Amino acid sequence: MCVSITKKPSGRRSRRDVLAVVLLLGVAFTLGAVTLLRSSEPPEPAVAVFPLPSGYADSYGNDWGAARVQGEHEGTDVFAPAGTSIRSITAGTVSRAWGSSGNGWNNLGGYTVMIEAAQDVGPIKRGDRLYYAHMDEPTPLAPGETVEARQRIGTVGGTGQGPEGTRGKFEPHLHLGWYAGWGLFEGDRPRAPSGAMNPYPLLRRIERDETLRPASAASENGTTALDKKPM
Ligand SMILES: [Zn+2]
Repeated sequence: MCVSITKKPSGRRSRRDVLAVVLLLGVAFTLGAVTLLRSSEPPEPAVAVFPLPSGYADSYGNDWGAARVQGEHEGTDVFAPAGTSIRSITAGTVSRAWGSSGNGWNNLGGYTVMIEAAQDVGPIKRGDRLYYAHMDEPTPLAPGETVEARQRIGTVGGTGQGPEGTRGKFEPHLHLGWYAGWGLFEGDRPRAPSGAMNPYPLLRRIERDETLRPASAASENGTTALDKKPM
């Protein structure tokens, strides 16, 4: 009787021990999983922003294919005063535009910079190239440098259509070009043999589609002030 009484609790204790070990393992597994989830960085949301302060969103039209000195216009011109900051539409990598000198001078485009998109975002595919031309001065960025969406990449100017330093041949504006990345010519994406696509619908979509501008990017310091059109 005495033996059986002492045995019963010890039997219960061992079952309790097993239960405790199982519970501890469960807790440890859960903690481990949570730690793993926390340590694997969530992917940055892809962002596409208007390249000039939003006040200039009414200073462009669909001028794709319009007659220009070099032929049909392969881009969209957004008009703004010289010195207005130009911001990268997407995250990406800086490269030289074709036919540009060491500091980005192109006899048509003046001071230029090209950014290869790092991610798919809206109609932009990873590897597409966005071309910013007629800048007031050379971009401060070097080829191979990575940029974030909204990062300043230069200023609006009226350079180009001549040898380096030529300016004033036309009203200052941003010429924006959009070229399909290598191997991304499928379907009817490119609208010209160069791979150029019309940036006008892209810019209009960026203006309207708030899903391209997650709150985290919109709340970045200084954005509100920069987005205001100077008087
Ligand atoms: Zn243009």
